[in-house]
Formats: sequence, structure tokens, C-alpha cells
Amino acid sequence: MSSPISKSAFIKAEQCLKHFFLYKNHPYLRDSLSKEKQLIFKRGTDVGIFAQQLFPGGIDVTAGEKRDQQLFAEKTKHLIAQGTKTIYEATFIFDDLLVMVDILHKQDDQWIAYEVKSSLKITETYVKDACFQYYVIKNCLPDLVDFNLLTMNPKYVLEGELEIQKLFKTTSIMKDALKNVSYFAHKTQIAKLTLEQNKIPDIKIGAHCFQPYECDFLGTCWKNINEPNSVLTLGKLTKQAMFELYDQNIKRIDEIDINTIQHKEIKIQVKAAIEQKEQIFEEEVKAFISNIKQPVCSLDIEVWMPAIPYYNGTKPFQQIPFLFSMISEENGDIKNYSYFKPIEEDLRKEFLEHILLVTKDFQSILMFDKSLEETVLNQLAVLYPEFSNDITDFKNKIIDLAEPIKKGNYYHPDMKGNFTLKSIAPLVNQEAGFNNLDIQSGISAMYIYESLLEQNAIESEHIKQQLVDYCEMDALITYQLLNFFNSKLGL
Ligand code: SF4
Repeated sequence: MSSPISKSAFIKAEQCLKHFFLYKNHPYLRDSLSKEKQLIFKRGTDVGIFAQQLFPGGIDVTAGEKRDQQLFAEKTKHLIAQGTKTIYEATFIFDDLLVMVDILHKQDDQWIAYEVKSSLKITETYVKDACFQYYVIKNCLPDLVDFNLLTMNPKYVLEGELEIQKLFKTTSIMKDALKNVSYFAHKTQIAKLTLEQNKIPDIKIGAHCFQPYECDFLGTCWKNINEPNSVLTLGKLTKQAMFELYDQNIKRIDEIDINTIQHKEIKIQVKAAIEQKEQIFEEEVKAFISNIKQPVCSLDIEVWMPAIPYYNGTKPFQQIPFLFSMISEENGDIKNYSYFKPIEEDLRKEFLEHILLVTKDFQSILMFDKSLEETVLNQLAVLYPEFSNDITDFKNKIIDLAEPIKKGNYYHPDMKGNFTLKSIAPLVNQEAGFNNLDIQSGISAMYIYESLLEQNAIESEHIKQQLVDYCEMDALITYQLLNFFNSKLGL
């Protein structure tokens, strides 16, 4: 007998029946979970456990048990029969469908369910997930009268002790849940029929492979498609537009009629694919570079966005700068400087003072995609108005080297449709690069910084070094990107 259809499996069926079938019958074909996704899931779990404090004294059906959902469902039934008032991870099976809910609480002899989301907003997918949970639970527990989503309250500001009741925002999804009962009855039948047919559904790849989530089986379905010049590697194009070309049998970028393209940043990719060489609009890049004044440095900032505010005066997911690295040159030698804020203390003022001090003698500050840095600086200007003039001066010196790339003034076929620093890094510096680092993205850096809350001193030092290495590499490649452009222009 096959295992029941879980919420995760049903959501996959909603996205693509092939995804669902592979997930149920060929899980070994799944792509390996990236470090980033693992960290995101972990944060979701951590916030879910934290929210249990809203209803203290409950029993977690998964505690101390091996992962056996049938057993969890039996345990839940037993706890309900015994008169338990609060159950964590309550599990239900109805009609071969299985759901778990973060918190189930009995109030005045009626049950209310709560699903926790580590997010400020409620998305359509969250509501659909919750409606499915309601559908299954209501059929097992007729006394269920409400189903709520618990999200982080964007207005909550930590002042002293954390007030958990104010930290979470409660939103009932009952209106949608009641409206969609027949929808789930119908859609779950289709999912079951798909399994019964015992044959991988013949579904072509499409924009749906990324909506609402990136499919776990891209490695299987897309394996013959990701050839170097595939039209599906075109950057700056929506997935829909990409598949319109693909479905018109335009499979390679060099098969696109370049005269039909209006956008410069797409045209440059097509031209690079046809000519198989880099493209540069020299006049535009030269004009951009002429704004850079010596002496110059490059800078990168890393931020932490804790779901649960950690410092006084901060909100959920507020951007807290914790590390910056600066690269400059002295007598032909590369110099680096990094400032790392320990997680235990809110040293944002010291962070700001340091960044202003070490950059003050530079006329231009190079960054790659300045949006995050500018947001952080704007927040610091509000928090410490005494520095607002210095911050304005600092911002006026920023030169965003992503600009010529994003505007389609430089492109190399090896960038494969990506316009990020990581995609251009191997062209700029063939020896150094992100691939050799333990941390390879700003999101990973953020979650790894958060993990310092649970580490001992030795591990913390190791993590700190990994974070500094990543940030320095970002700043170094940004710095070298200017030399790269200069050499292309013969400057
Ligand atoms: S990659 Fe696309 S077509 Fe293949 S299973 Fe996933 S969603 Fe379906």
C-alpha cells in the first residue's frame, strides 16, 4: 500500500502532475537540496517551534518518535480522545491524504488550528496550503471551527522583553477554506488517479517548472535542455516569454531573429551567442567609467535579517548590517579591511562609524548592485541622524559597477544569461573566485551568521573567517571589475 498523499505532495500535484508522480514514486531522482534551501527550511522550523510558546504546555506528537506519520496520526487521535488541549504537529489522515499542523488548540470545547509562516506576508500559496490542511482536518475533527495563519507582524518593534503575542499576526483563512472544499475533493481525486495509472505523466517543461516553487526534478526533466546556447538560458526575460520562443521551436539563442528584439540587454545576449564572443559598447562603458574619481576603493556589506527581532528597536526581518569588506590599492598592492560585528551585540553605530572612517579619503566607492547597501545606509541615517550628512556624502561617492552590465553594455557568452557578480567573476579573476569558498551567496552568509547564536567559541571563529572570506571576495572581484573594464577599453 502506498503512503498517503501529504500536503507537500499535493502542492506538487497542483504545480505539475509529473512533479507529483516523480516525488511519490521516484524520490531518488530529486535534485539535491541546496545549502540555501536547507537553511531556509531550518529557519521555518525554528520559527514554528518558537511560536509554540503562544500556546504553552502542549504536546508535540513528533517528539522522541522516529519519523512515522501514521504513528503521529494515531498519537494525535489518542491525545484528542484523552482531552489534551494543545497539540503541536498534530497529524491527520483522511481519505489517504495526510496533513500536519503546527499548533492545534482547544478553546471553549472547539478546536482552532494555527499554521506558522516565517514571513511578513500571506501569499496565495500559503492560503492554498492552509485550505488543504483545513479540508483534511475538518473531515477528521468536526469540532474544528477556525484555521489561522500566523505570520510575523511587520509593525512589531522589540522593546525589552519579547512579547510573543504581539510578534505574530493571526489571520483566519476560513472564508477561502469553506469556499474550496469541493475543489480539494476534485483535485485530490485527480492526484490519486495519476498514481493509479502507474505511468510518468507526459508533461513538457514550461514556466510552471518554477511556479510557485522551483521544481525538485529540474535535473531530470531539463538534463538535455541546458545546452550552452539554449534559449532557456536567456537572461532578463520572463519564463513565459522564454517558453513562447521555445514552443515556437526556437531552441537556441542564435536562432532568434535579432531584428525582432527591442531590449538592449537581450539583444546583446543574442549577438554574443551568434558571434560566440563578448560584446562591449565601448563609448557607453567609457562614459560610465569617467565618473570614477581616484583614489578608489570597493566595498561590500553583508546583512542579517532575523525573523525574530534580536536587538531593541528592531522589527522582524529588519536588515542589520554585520560585516563589511573594503578593498583598495597602495603602491600597487591590494589592501583589504574588514569589520565584523559580533552577533551578541547591537553595534550598528560602531559599524557605521567604522565604515565612514575607513572610506572617508576615497573619492569613489565601487559596489556591485548597491540597492541593499543603500537601504542599509538609509536606515542607519534615520537611526543616527547625527551622521546623516556623512552618510549622504558616502552615498554620493558610490559607483555601481553593475550598471553597465545590467544596461546591456557588456556581456560575455560565459555569463549564461546571468548579470550577477558571480557570473562575471571567472572572467575577471580566473584564479580567485567564489567556487572555492564555503559561503557562496549573501543569503547563505545571512543564515550562517545567524547560526553563530548556537555555536561554541571555536566554531564561531571558523564561521567568522568564512564570512569574511566571502565578503572580501565580493569586494575584491568588484574592485578588479574596474581594471577588467579598463583593460577592455585600453585605459
Ligand atoms: S521539471 Fe517541470 S515538467 Fe519536470 S516534473 Fe518538474 S515541473 Fe514537471
